[in-house]
Amino acid sequence: MSWELPSRISLREVGPRDGLQNEDPIPTDAKVALVDALSLTGVKRIEAVSFVRPSAIPQMADADEVWSRISRSPGVRYSALVPNLRGAVRALDAGVTELEVVVSASQTHNLKNVNRTTGESLDEIAAILELAHVKGASVQMIVSTAWGCPYEGDVPVERVVAVASRAVRDGADSVSFGDTTGMATPTRVRRLVGAFRDANPGTALNLHFHNTRGTGLANVLAALELGVADFDASVGGLGGCPYAPGATGNIATEELVHMAEDMGIDTGVSLDALLEAAAEAERAVGHTLPSQVLRAGPRTRTIPV
Ligand code: ZN
Repeated sequence: MSWELPSRISLREVGPRDGLQNEDPIPTDAKVALVDALSLTGVKRIEAVSFVRPSAIPQMADADEVWSRISRSPGVRYSALVPNLRGAVRALDAGVTELEVVVSASQTHNLKNVNRTTGESLDEIAAILELAHVKGASVQMIVSTAWGCPYEGDVPVERVVAVASRAVRDGADSVSFGDTTGMATPTRVRRLVGAFRDANPGTALNLHFHNTRGTGLANVLAALELGVADFDASVGGLGGCPYAPGATGNIATEELVHMAEDMGIDTGVSLDALLEAAAEAERAVGHTLPSQVLRAGPRTRTIPV
């Protein structure tokens, strides 16, 4: 069997949001510096902040300030995650033109996270879609716990697809499946991507893997073989898992870039610049990050003899 891998992929750097949200709070200056360093790596999309209630997520309390202070590089798109309609209004007022909304495929996870049923969240998301579109902004529907839930275990593929399909019917511009706690494996990736595409042919799809159980890049490879060409990753592998202390976070951007580029897949990202940003992220959070390419260096780096 042979596969046609994409010749290029689009990466969204989520370290400043998903990563930092799962770290101890860092100063605003350090957040702005990190986003600015990432803007110089060649990455074309950065999820910069989330507009959540500061009491809910203190790490994002300065979202408005970070959003207004980052240096916008030409050719880079900056997005923000919003948890609800109120957050969407805040984000749109701040000038965000690319929003991400999120719902858990798992009922229990959604109830624990936002105290609403999945259906209630989807109703509010429909209102966000309408408002954002009136304001000329695009909205991505992120379905979290798409490959499993820390409370419920496996979430049926049919349920995940039904949740995503509802948002697509309501006007979501694209869909992202989030492996919130690193429960995906390549077989499960194939199953979900296949079922989603059957139900929603032509809908743009992003995949968001966490490397909590070491299957992150294997999942990316499975998705590449299906022609998926849009992935989230976080610099240094920033961010842990709120349910498992010590567990690793998102797949590391430099590991993904390192692998993809060697496979002849263009990412547009400079690995050297990215490694510098990863080192900066490590200094900002004050501890070692899980990225192995950050530790070992690129495979092309040789020891002087
Ligand atoms: Zn995540």
